[in-house]
Amino acid sequence: MTLRPEDYLAVESELGAHNYKPLDVVLSRGEDVWVWDTEGKRYLDCLSAYSAVNQGHCHPKIHEAMVEQAKRLTLTSRAFRNDQLALFYKEVCDLTNSHKVLPMNSGAEAVESAIKAVRKWGYEVKGVPHDQAEIIVCEDNFHGRTIGIVGFSTDPAARSGFGPFAPGFTVIPFGDNEALEAAITENTVGFLVEPIQGEAGVIIPPDGYLTKVRDICSRHNVQLILDEIQTGLGRTGKLLAEEHDGVEADLTLIGKALSGGFYPVSAVLSNSEVLGVLKPGQHGSTFGGNPLACAVARASLRVLIEEDMINNAERMGAYFLEGLQRIRNNLIKDIRGRGLMIAVEFHKEAEGARRYCEALRQAGLLCKETHINTIRFAPPLTIKKDHIDWALEQIEPALRA
Ligand SMILES: *Cc1c(COP(=O)(O)O)cnc(C)c1O
Repeated sequence: MTLRPEDYLAVESELGAHNYKPLDVVLSRGEDVWVWDTEGKRYLDCLSAYSAVNQGHCHPKIHEAMVEQAKRLTLTSRAFRNDQLALFYKEVCDLTNSHKVLPMNSGAEAVESAIKAVRKWGYEVKGVPHDQAEIIVCEDNFHGRTIGIVGFSTDPAARSGFGPFAPGFTVIPFGDNEALEAAITENTVGFLVEPIQGEAGVIIPPDGYLTKVRDICSRHNVQLILDEIQTGLGRTGKLLAEEHDGVEADLTLIGKALSGGFYPVSAVLSNSEVLGVLKPGQHGSTFGGNPLACAVARASLRVLIEEDMINNAERMGAYFLEGLQRIRNNLIKDIRGRGLMIAVEFHKEAEGARRYCEALRQAGLLCKETHINTIRFAPPLTIKKDHIDWALEQIEPALRA
């Protein structure tokens, strides 16, 4: 039975929780930078599933790795070992210069896992009194949707109605290293921050921010936890966004593109001291580190490097940004970006970015507004100059209208 687009909408509306407000486009196929709806209309994907398909839709090599592994072995649980986990550890550590890895599934789980590990480190290594550990986070952060995480969100939509929340978090402004230094106490165990705030609307901190943050955390024996779930794996034109500032986090969280969009895979990457505190039975996940996830992640990392996607993101990001910055519209407040993480922010008078997203959709580009007034442009890292030239031809009239 084939359903019409309006049938899909009606069933979703009736049977699904309404926790998203998607564009009303029903997609049924994807290839590289393109997706097609059920009517056969083609779109350039400028969201990349919130940067989970950096490698492009249905990348053939990741697909092959997934199918081959799915035929052999998918899940053992961590009660037994599997022949993919060690290889994944080795390859991800070599690539990111890490010493230890904790594999999980969703991004939120990686964040939760880092919080647990850093708290335990605080008690066992730093000597923080029992149940007194504090973690500093930033205003307008986005780290996921679990109760633990939304408890330290400052977005009313994300948190209101979901309390009570766990204590132990201090919120400071993003991009303000003096606020960080002032907020640290002897019980502070970690500072959790996004190198660029993605969901807040691609908010890029002042130059040198992470360098200063790194120095402050080191001086106070506070673990720097960088949430690179969105900024990592090539999105900003570097493997990890921390490289723009030449720093290394103590814990780095990756997810999303770690599977090229095939499967939920995330990981906490850390120095030995912090993940070293976790002992058998103290943390885990049935699916975390399963052989299918590991095989998919290995292929996803391999193609990022082999196909030069990271350098391409840097070059094409600069080209795309320059093209967007030529668009004249008094309602545009700012156009900014790093690599292929780009935002066009409108003034309030524009009455929201959603209508521009609808216009872009008509023109064959899929984009999503974030925080009412901003459109994010984050196509797969495989995008080529011709695609961008075509995109700019569509975007210009849509954004000027
Ligand atoms: C998407 C995202 C998360 C959460 O990842 P999920 O897989 O949706 O749980 C956490 N942090 C950042 C920065 C993200 O962009």
